[in-house]
Amino acid sequence: MSNYPYRWAQPPAPIPEDQIVSEMSADVVVCGAGFSGITAALSAAEQGLSVIILEKGRDFAARGLHIGVSNSRLMRERGVVNDIDEVRREFIRVSTYRADEDVLQNYLNRSEEAMDWLLDKTDAAGIAASLNTGYYRGWSYREFPGTHQFEGGVYAVVKLMLDLALEKGVRVFYSTPALMLEKTGERVTAVIANGTEGYARFRALKGVVLATGDISGNKEMTADLAPEALHVNNDLYTPVGRNTGDGHRMGVWAGGRLQDAPFPCMTHSMAFGGHMFFFLGVNQSGRRYMNEDASPQNRSCYTWNQDPEHPWGYAIMDAKWKQEVADSMAYGGGMFWDWVLRDIDTPFSTDMAERGLEKEIEEGKVSWKADTLEELAEKIGVPKDVFLATVERYNQLVYQGHDTDYGKRRELMTAVCRPPFYAIKFGPSLLTIPGGLTIDTKLRVLNEKKQPVPGLFAVGNASGSIYAVDYPLSIPGNDLGRCLTWGYLCGRALAEE
Ligand SMILES: Cc1cc2nc3c(=O)[nH]c(=O)nc-3n(C[C@H](O)[C@H](O)[C@H](O)COP(=O)(O)OP(=O)(O)OC[C@H]3O[C@@H](n4cnc5c(N)ncnc54)[C@H](O)[C@@H]3O)c2cc1C
Repeated sequence: MSNYPYRWAQPPAPIPEDQIVSEMSADVVVCGAGFSGITAALSAAEQGLSVIILEKGRDFAARGLHIGVSNSRLMRERGVVNDIDEVRREFIRVSTYRADEDVLQNYLNRSEEAMDWLLDKTDAAGIAASLNTGYYRGWSYREFPGTHQFEGGVYAVVKLMLDLALEKGVRVFYSTPALMLEKTGERVTAVIANGTEGYARFRALKGVVLATGDISGNKEMTADLAPEALHVNNDLYTPVGRNTGDGHRMGVWAGGRLQDAPFPCMTHSMAFGGHMFFFLGVNQSGRRYMNEDASPQNRSCYTWNQDPEHPWGYAIMDAKWKQEVADSMAYGGGMFWDWVLRDIDTPFSTDMAERGLEKEIEEGKVSWKADTLEELAEKIGVPKDVFLATVERYNQLVYQGHDTDYGKRRELMTAVCRPPFYAIKFGPSLLTIPGGLTIDTKLRVLNEKKQPVPGLFAVGNASGSIYAVDYPLSIPGNDLGRCLTWGYLCGRALAEE
């Protein structure tokens, strides 16, 4: 019997021995060929261990642009160095003091080493790395530099690590979902998977690594562990529905403990248009509902709380927007305000945003332009009288010099008065649910007594402990930075088993 009341937490009956058609063994069996699983496989192979990867899909998984770490040699070369204690305070604040501090500190202390390890490989392969400079510099929340981006995006990085792993003899079995773990005594010693030829046993001499991603493709688990995620549009990203919390369940069946619910959700606010900046935001009823000077994560929360049937809003700006955005960069910025991929060597300009906006206006689906506010209200389908009253009230607050409705900073209160007027649709979108099995600093899965389950490891979103309640954007891209760090450290930890 499982310690959890959930239906999915009850272990299934074992697969009868006569139905297991093949058997194979390696030092390490990794379940999941995503960012963290491939990193763990490569790191373990570099330690001279034999590795098998089992992957549910027909191909590996890779997505995203930003990999966030506390420091790196690239940062030091550019004179950008984070004070880890400061970063730590922000992470802890966002996780409302519920993250495991040892695990968090492990990421902060060791992500530099992991990134340098990766940079050695990308440099050798000729994949250019750069530092993102589009982090927020305002007062409402804190973001730190440390976001790395690579030519070809995260896909190029994962592909490179997979190629290097294959060169080191790592074997990958696609279309082979891991189904359950087997134990010998207390130790996890094998994975039963559904291979292309039938059920197969993969024995792991040193350890099994759960790297199966998050639970967002499993509605039942999401409702039990991260109910907020059900409000959010999650079909914009690929592979849709593939991560069904399999590693979480297998880990629980084998005695592992999940971090406490609710799991944090990683959401961003730009499910529709490319930018939102800091301008007046109205909901589908034409009303203002938040201080728009908030992180993309927090704007998502505000927005999905508006109206579950219409979880989106519109950023309203006027002819002055380009100058106003340029002026705001010294005390604002960050994702969807600055450009997503601006590197430290490129000066800010609104050209990219303008080109994107023009294209969106031409398509007429997420951005609109109008000569009057009445016409704009009609185009976006909000009640005209409410919308006009909202703009009037907002302008009044601008002129009065104090936002007594939502406390937005004076510098960011800009009047909506000079035609043409613009509306950009924004809305929350779920990227992932980064909560999972509790781990220690050696990536070992812990049981209810906080003791390691021998032979069982978890990395990436199958693992928990580092985040709680809310996802911190404190170093943008820290989830992939964590996947990198955990994968790298896990390979090293396995060598010590
Ligand atoms: C569009 C998008 C953009 C993003 N951008 C960023 C970003 O810029 N920065 C950032 O930090 N984060 C970003 N994220 C989040 C980030 O991509 C994930 O957090 C990260 O990829 C998780 O890595 P992972 O290794 O844990 O899981 P995944 O990369 O999802 O890999 C899990 C793998 O396990 C496989 N699998 C599942 N079940 C089984 C099973 N039973 N047996 C075998 N295999 C199985 C899956 O098929 C998959 O290949 C983004 C997410 C999305 C959707």
